Amino acid sequence: MGFKQIDLILPPDFSDAMMRSEVAKVLGISEFTCQIVSQSLDARKKSFVHWLVRVGVCSEHLSGDAEIPKPSLKIPYKKRKQKVLVLGSGPAGFFSAYVLQLAGFNTVLVERGSMVDLRARQIAQFEDKGVFHPQGNYAFGEGGAGTFSDGKLTSRSKHISAERRFIAETYIAAGAPKEIAWLAHPHIGSDNLQKVVAALRLEYQNLGGTILFETRIEDIQAEGRNIVEAYTASGAIKSNIFVLAPGHSAYETYRMLMKRGVAFRLKNFAIGSRAEHRQELINKAQWGVERLPGVKAAEYRLASSGKTNQPVYTFCMCPGGVVVPSTAYALSNTVNGMSFYPRDGRFANAACVAGVHPTQLAPWIKTPYDALLWLEQLEQSYFAFSGKYAAPSCTIADFLKGKSRGRLPESSFPLGLVDAPLWSMMPKAVVDALRFGLTEFNLKVKGYSEGVLIGLESKTSSPVQVIRDSSGLCEGFDNLYLVGEGSGYAGGIMSSAADGIKAAIAIIAAY
Ligand SMILES: Cc1cc2nc3c(=O)[nH]c(=O)nc-3n(C[C@H](O)[C@H](O)[C@H](O)COP(=O)(O)OP(=O)(O)OC[C@H]3O[C@@H](n4cnc5c(N)ncnc54)[C@H](O)[C@@H]3O)c2cc1C
Repeated sequence: MGFKQIDLILPPDFSDAMMRSEVAKVLGISEFTCQIVSQSLDARKKSFVHWLVRVGVCSEHLSGDAEIPKPSLKIPYKKRKQKVLVLGSGPAGFFSAYVLQLAGFNTVLVERGSMVDLRARQIAQFEDKGVFHPQGNYAFGEGGAGTFSDGKLTSRSKHISAERRFIAETYIAAGAPKEIAWLAHPHIGSDNLQKVVAALRLEYQNLGGTILFETRIEDIQAEGRNIVEAYTASGAIKSNIFVLAPGHSAYETYRMLMKRGVAFRLKNFAIGSRAEHRQELINKAQWGVERLPGVKAAEYRLASSGKTNQPVYTFCMCPGGVVVPSTAYALSNTVNGMSFYPRDGRFANAACVAGVHPTQLAPWIKTPYDALLWLEQLEQSYFAFSGKYAAPSCTIADFLKGKSRGRLPESSFPLGLVDAPLWSMMPKAVVDALRFGLTEFNLKVKGYSEGVLIGLESKTSSPVQVIRDSSGLCEGFDNLYLVGEGSGYAGGIMSSAADGIKAAIAIIAAY
């Protein structure tokens, strides 16, 4: 049996039959099996938008090439006596616990938020009636921040090929769409993610893993270089190894860790707003047409280095999606974006942020503790502006002019927009950089300034980073790992999950 990989150019709405007929034509064979290896949309020429598809073909009529071995994760099983406590059921915490359980450890996953079904109802109640639930919101609850998201699995992290494949295969086995294995820009969709997260929990429990919901780790206790116990409202939990994956929204958890001697440093991060546009405007700008059969909705990614060398960029774009109230705490306002698998909503949104170092934001910011306090206060000031969970917003045109016309366009944001001078609600360095970047974006995407900026977008990355090694082991400790987005080394579902897996693999090797 021979194997060959070939590259095909196929129309936006190609079918399996069309792909097979192209394979037959290119290779001159009629009996074969084939599978897509990778697929990306090429929209550089608006008159010729097409898919670039790499196909792996197996046939007795082919000679030569052997199938290229795929990177895979080695998880050696043996019954182990050590107990591992994992904090947080987001991608980093879940995958860490799952891999450790597969390897034979005795793991307990502790999650402050609710199970996914209840969490979905709590979020719906927040969006319908403005009743905020501290245990069930866009940041906290089963599956972490990634559950009610677009479920984009893109990541620029290097050296995670084996982890990436393991994560995609685990998601597919739990019900995620199969094409996430080969699409250049894979996404699961919030509707699918909720089912996937519940299926993964059952799989983890079937392996013998324990999961505790609505249980917050409030403190930890060290003896020398080892953590021995974690405290929750219902009592202490002893463990041999502690893997913490709290995400970057859990302010009190960060403070507790700082108090207990876990060392952090300041790092660059980004703040700004969500930019929202009509999806048809983005489709037209990217493809030259408002609809393209076979492709769900156009994406974009924009970047500008800025006059002051302060980067401005779009991030986490959600085609056909919704801007959501993603605050983790009451009386605070942050926004983020999500979409369902069909990506068929009327709006497109993306974070539009300026990169900053925390010390640029206020003269009193000297330590990681200060940076988190500043950020928390900024998030609260957005709530204070509207006095409710409606989001302070202005059009991009008004932001550029620094003058409000008092008119806001229709939006997907469920809790309403409030006209606000966003240019005076963020530090001047951020506003200046954003103005420069938005002016450039308007030249790149026709009609970009027609969009609306919805605040506050403060969660693209963390302003602090723990001091740890590449496996996540914290400086000064022998059994404490801090992983995922909260560690300051990962961002997004894929890289956070991979970071959690790397810690698990290091623990397997060490014990
Ligand atoms: C609305 C939204 C949309 C997003 N869309 C995307 C996307 O499309 N693609 C993408 O790659 N990324 C997306 N992100 C970002 C992505 O979700 C995060 O990067 C990722 O979830 C980080 O994973 P994590 O496991 O490190 O942390 P998290 O997912 O934040 O999980 C941390 C978990 O720890 C729990 N926890 C915190 N403190 C404690 C404590 N003291 N005790 C017990 N439990 C605790 C929290 O409840 C939470 O469940 C989105 C985020 C949001 C909010």
